Amino acid sequence: MKIYPLKDWNLNIPNDKPLVIAGPCSAESEEQTLNTAKALKEEGINIFRAGIWKPRTRPNCFEGVGNIGLPWLETVKKETGMLVSTEVASVKHLEQALKHNVDIIWIGARTTANPFAIQDIADALVGVDIPVFVKNPVNPDLELWIGAIERIAGAGLNKIGAIHRGFSAYENSKYRNIPQWQIPIELRQRIKDLSIICDPSHITGDSALIKEVSQEALDLNYDGLIIESHINPNKALSDAKQQITPKELSILLNELVVRDIKTTDAEIGSILNELRYQIDSMDKDLIDILGNRICITEKIGQYKKDNNITILQQDRWKHILDNAISVGQKRNLSKDFISKIFKAIHQESINKQTRIMNE
Ligand code: PEP
Ligand code: MN
Repeated sequence: MKIYPLKDWNLNIPNDKPLVIAGPCSAESEEQTLNTAKALKEEGINIFRAGIWKPRTRPNCFEGVGNIGLPWLETVKKETGMLVSTEVASVKHLEQALKHNVDIIWIGARTTANPFAIQDIADALVGVDIPVFVKNPVNPDLELWIGAIERIAGAGLNKIGAIHRGFSAYENSKYRNIPQWQIPIELRQRIKDLSIICDPSHITGDSALIKEVSQEALDLNYDGLIIESHINPNKALSDAKQQITPKELSILLNELVVRDIKTTDAEIGSILNELRYQIDSMDKDLIDILGNRICITEKIGQYKKDNNITILQQDRWKHILDNAISVGQKRNLSKDFISKIFKAIHQESINKQTRIMNE
């Protein structure tokens, strides 16, 4: 699998980092599409996005304008010089998009989760040289995300990027789709040269939160952002709450801080190294402690087995968790963080004890 980083895609636009793709969730009318594009171009945006076919969770919502919207994208190209991009979820969509000279396509989160659909699209992409962004699947499954990228790469394409749009979850969260930043970090480690951009619009679902998530993405060295922008967000037919005007987008982008990956300043470098050394040594201690804890768990498991006692004692577990949360709060560690860690530790203990019971 040979994947080119964004800078080698020859998009013929200023090689800005971060790359910014912006446009409405959906193309709704020729006027809305063109007016949004023109306003974005005036703010310096070079790549336009607009959904033509919309995957909606429930039927009877606005499902996109369909094929009639494609000539509007061609008009955007002609009148603004922008590159245009849209989502394809089937071979039919892909054929139509290619026929109407769409420059960049993306695979939506629901499609990435469906290997049959991805393989069909990949097969239809053989011999086509078009940049493809693959959004993460709706569920937090890194292998599924990698699998989709591999299928597209298997068709011989090299200009492949990933879009992190967050993962759906039942838990209450201030975000529409929880970022789970660790998953894209691991993706970047697994696929060399893969560029990743962030979609703060679908992560947050809320125009007021887009800036904080965009900054977080840049701090994690993302290669770009794809942000929903509509000429009149209140009137948007889909995702109205998360869209911002081209003007608001421009202000937001100007406020973002793009940091250096590495510093050349020797003093800053040595302070950072010292702090990293401390972190590495604490990580080692953490693992030692976890290892010791598991040894005790195994002893308890053996003891329970010998005395015919169940593994899970609900009251004891509740006591451990409540206690950890209350101690954690005194150390400025959030309840959410502590419960995630303790649930993982507890699960590992149960696994070990179950193995012992079954031996
Ligand atoms: C979109 O980009 O408009 C979209 C539908 O996104 P996702 O696939 O991330 O839900
Ligand atoms: Mn949307």
